[in-house]
Amino acid sequence: MLTPALFLDRDGVIMENRANYVRSWEDVELYPQAIAALARIRSAPYKIILVTNQSVVGRGIITLAEAQAINDRIMVEVMEGNGRIDAAYICPHAPSDNCNCRKPRPGLLLQAAADHAIDLSRSIMIGDALTDIAAGQAAGVAQTILLLTGRGRNQAQLSQTQHLAPYQIYATLSAALSNLV
Ligand SMILES: [Zn+2]
Repeated sequence: MLTPALFLDRDGVIMENRANYVRSWEDVELYPQAIAALARIRSAPYKIILVTNQSVVGRGIITLAEAQAINDRIMVEVMEGNGRIDAAYICPHAPSDNCNCRKPRPGLLLQAAADHAIDLSRSIMIGDALTDIAAGQAAGVAQTILLLTGRGRNQAQLSQTQHLAPYQIYATLSAALSNLV
């Protein structure tokens, strides 16, 4: 029995995006509206999965273990806010590695789908960048949503929108999820 997933990008979706990467817990500033929204949908029939590009690892700035520890602590904070994140997937590569998991490629979503018996055709991808939209569409999810938090407001103005199938735009994760359930 396959279940749908709500795939969430991390930086700019549930927390502030940082121009110089999230290197330590001091760089993490969760969005209160996102934490509250995750609490509201905790019983929704979706796996909730973070999919995040962290080239900060591939560039040698922090280790993969450090990046995973930051995600683990984010998941604890979400749980303490009465929400849940069921799993977190990281692409640790630098752009020059040309891997299959760095968004806009769909590798992280495909890996998560295989690990968690996810029905991509009923799943949703939410991000603050067009690369998130592209990754979701390449993975075959039903719905892709661009948020205007993080990099989203600039991304929404980029002309690359032309190569993408239609997607929805919401101001915040909270606004996007209020239409979900
Ligand atoms: Zn990768």
